Amino acid sequence: MRYLSTRGLTEPVGFSDAVAIGLAPDGGLYLPETLPQFSAADLRRFETLGYAELCFEFLRRFATDIPPETLRELVAQSYTTFSDPGIAPLKELSKNLYVLELFHGPTLAFKDFALQLLGNLYGHQCSLRRESINVLGATSGDTGAAAIHGLLGKPGTAIFILYPDGRVSPLQERQMACTGAANVFALAVDGSFDDAQTSLKEIFGDQKFRQQHRLSAVNSVNIARVLAQSVYYLYAFLRLPAATRAETEFVVPTGNFGNVLAGWLLQKMGVPLRSFKVATNQNDILYRLFTTGEYRVSAVAPSLAPSMDIQVSSNFERFLYLSVGGDAAKVRDVMQTFKSTGGYQFENFARDTLSASRCTDAQIPGIIRSVYERFGYIVDPHTACGFAELAQDRPSVVLATASPAKFPDTIVSAIGIEPKDPSLEALKSRPVQKYLLKTDATSIRGFIEQHAV
Ligand SMILES: *Cc1c(COP(=O)(O)O)cnc(C)c1O
Repeated sequence: MRYLSTRGLTEPVGFSDAVAIGLAPDGGLYLPETLPQFSAADLRRFETLGYAELCFEFLRRFATDIPPETLRELVAQSYTTFSDPGIAPLKELSKNLYVLELFHGPTLAFKDFALQLLGNLYGHQCSLRRESINVLGATSGDTGAAAIHGLLGKPGTAIFILYPDGRVSPLQERQMACTGAANVFALAVDGSFDDAQTSLKEIFGDQKFRQQHRLSAVNSVNIARVLAQSVYYLYAFLRLPAATRAETEFVVPTGNFGNVLAGWLLQKMGVPLRSFKVATNQNDILYRLFTTGEYRVSAVAPSLAPSMDIQVSSNFERFLYLSVGGDAAKVRDVMQTFKSTGGYQFENFARDTLSASRCTDAQIPGIIRSVYERFGYIVDPHTACGFAELAQDRPSVVLATASPAKFPDTIVSAIGIEPKDPSLEALKSRPVQKYLLKTDATSIRGFIEQHAV
């Protein structure tokens, strides 16, 4: 299987290279050249598989340059770190309403599904090529923690995560800075998240430094992340009652569009998923796109669902590419106009089977309260956004993207109960090891020079 860039100006690459490169050199995102199709017979065969086996059966169609037995092991290893035997348990709240719990991984948010696997893929490449790798990224919270836990203690790797000091939640900071692992460096910088991003860009732009330390980016656009996430849609689909499977809508709390894209791609592979609801918080670029056909940036207003506080949804480019039939010139035109003017108005925006909803901060506590009163179930503020405009005329699966225990303040103020998780409680008694750094590229570069593997 070869991978093409959505901008069409780079050579196709194999799976392992697409994973190692992340963002394509022409600025585009990698997609498989063709989407494999799953037949009804395949789906029947998949019904009895456990999570890791299903993931292997799915990924082997994409990761064709990794020997199957190696891939099977890497996948199996990736889901041993999950605390629930179901990995992604589907819970029925009432007739026709389900939540898919995606928060049983080591950092209690759905990003573990992709980053546990990505960590193992990186580890495999290191040992195969007998090279070390230094992973570098900036985070406003969940991604950094999940990336760190994907590489924790892996030989031949080190991970450096920048975050704005004092501006991630105390629990998120502990997930990054209390691991005790010698290859993890939580770098609390004195600037904002955007300042950290700017310095990272500068460091990655320095080709000599980048090659010397074999730097790799933690990247929200890595194709392996998207594919790993398609698997839980398939897993959930196969656990729905057979009679209503094809009528069920998936509701996806969304920021970068990665999660919802993963489900939509599965539908394009012949799995009869009915439709998707793109559930945004008050930072609603995607809601505006799906309701007006205009894709336009606006300022980010920090919200109670911080992991969805994005200005631009980078994975939308993959949806666009497939929506225009793989016309890379059209994608370049849209992205260029978007970059230079801050927006793009589509004439006839192809929504396909997607619709959108929006949820403001003013609504979130009320939703948490009402879900708790109706079903005795506690949702985190991101998942709450999925409950904002549930369809009445069809079954829904809401993706629960984080554990409520990660956001105790919001939950306490909504229902007066403090949700707890044993892994987070354990973190509270461990020493914080963070490195205070200036945000400029020189300071960060100096730190990497001292600590790189
Ligand atoms: C990252 C994140 C999201 C948004 O996911 P995207 O793939 O960016 O759409 C939603 N909820 C939580 C808890 C997250 O960490």
